[in-house]
Amino acid sequence: ELVNFNEFFAYILDRFDMMLKKEKADAKDTDGKVVKNYRIKRIFTQKDLWVEIDTDKMTQVIDNIVNNAIKYSPDGGVITCRLLETNKHIIISISDEGLGIPRKDIKKVFDRFYRVDKARSRKQGGTGLGLSISKEIVEQHKGRIWVNSAEGRGSTFYISLPFDPNETGGEWDEI
Ligand code: ATP
Ligand code: MG
Repeated sequence: ELVNFNEFFAYILDRFDMMLKKEKADAKDTDGKVVKNYRIKRIFTQKDLWVEIDTDKMTQVIDNIVNNAIKYSPDGGVITCRLLETNKHIIISISDEGLGIPRKDIKKVFDRFYRVDKARSRKQGGTGLGLSISKEIVEQHKGRIWVNSAEGRGSTFYISLPFDPNETGGEWDEI
């Protein structure tokens, strides 16, 4: 499916904003319930970027990375989402101000069932499959996924996907 990636990415992040709003409203009704707060900041290119993707699968990838960013961040963390383009690729990045990933674990976080520090992860819940599935999906799209992180200072996950900068999504821009 050919999608305008700006809209596609924005729509996914809108859902996170709405989910948080709803959780906060629900928590007010059932007082005592604690909601993990976060703020999503968007830095997107203004250009339309038309990319051929499997929207369900790519939604799963972005959902997982944003969920991780929330899960492994302290309360009130800022999650910065960027979208930019190079000659032949779009690049998405998702940065958090969370726990970060120790250098020795960086290469392994995309492995099946791998979770950094069993003790810290157990409390959080999860299977350790999210990133390995994400990697598989990104590679099915001929893209790449990688991470930059410093322990205690946060992580940035990157995805690059091939795209054709001349693609206009079928609009009649030349008559
Ligand atoms: P699942 O996604 O299956 O529910 P999970 O979140 O533990 O479980 P992955 O998404 O594959 O599994 O992530 C693997 C591990 O990488 C996590 O357990 C965590 O230790 C580490 N990790 C992933 N994202 C972050 C992040 N943003 N900050 C710090 N650590 C992270
Ligand atoms: Mg996960």
